[in-house]
Amino acid sequence: MHRNIRKILNFFYPNLCPRCSAFLLSEETVCESCAEQMLLSQNDYCHACGKVNCMCQYQKRFYDKAVIACHYDSDTAPAVLAMKKSRNTNFAYFSARILAERLRHGTYYEFQKTDYVIPVPMHLSKQKQRGYNQAGLIAKELALLLNLPYREDILYKINSGQEQHTLTSAAERAKNVESFGIHEISLDGRRILLCDDVLTTGSTMNRCAELLKSKGASFVTAAAASSTSPKYKEQEKSEQKESEEEQIS
Ligand SMILES: [Zn+2]
Ligand SMILES: [Zn+2]
Repeated sequence: MHRNIRKILNFFYPNLCPRCSAFLLSEETVCESCAEQMLLSQNDYCHACGKVNCMCQYQKRFYDKAVIACHYDSDTAPAVLAMKKSRNTNFAYFSARILAERLRHGTYYEFQKTDYVIPVPMHLSKQKQRGYNQAGLIAKELALLLNLPYREDILYKINSGQEQHTLTSAAERAKNVESFGIHEISLDGRRILLCDDVLTTGSTMNRCAELLKSKGASFVTAAAASSTSPKYKEQEKSEQKESEEEQIS
């Protein structure tokens, strides 16, 4: 884009950091200090389940590997919510760049053999309402950066009326994930990169991976922009406790 045009665009639509709202250059997605605070080091999570506190022994996993960009806690929540609510989608591009870098340099992922990059689907009516599926934004960007085919016509979401992040109990979450479906398609031997914005219990990724495997997929890598950290869980619990206490008093 011509420099002057970019300057004019930036005047009307300033490019802001999704976490702290600092002004950014047009090619930047997140400011340097926020990037530092949000990143989850490659050594700090389990590369099988994607959790900081490994959950491998507690649940049967259908995805084979996990790659994560950021931790999800009070540091990243504003950027993730900005992507979901106010259309500052910078976090999607920021995390896709990190994921692409990690996939390129992590020798055991063999991303070159990936057949499709697929987002965790969102119900169509909701996608129309919002204008985009945030998991789709991440997946599309990742596919572009890694030069891999993007497919959103394989998995679909049945409207359950409830969003996963609004459900508090593990049982509710597990039940809600039943609402994903897969089209009649053969994925015989296909290797898939499955993308989502937040990995919480992993039940959404797990259900989608289970469906992909049911059609013959041989390998599923779960790529998530963020993974909830135990720190955030504690925070969530204490906030819940406080609000319960408020209600009682
Ligand atoms: Zn910032
Ligand atoms: Zn694990």
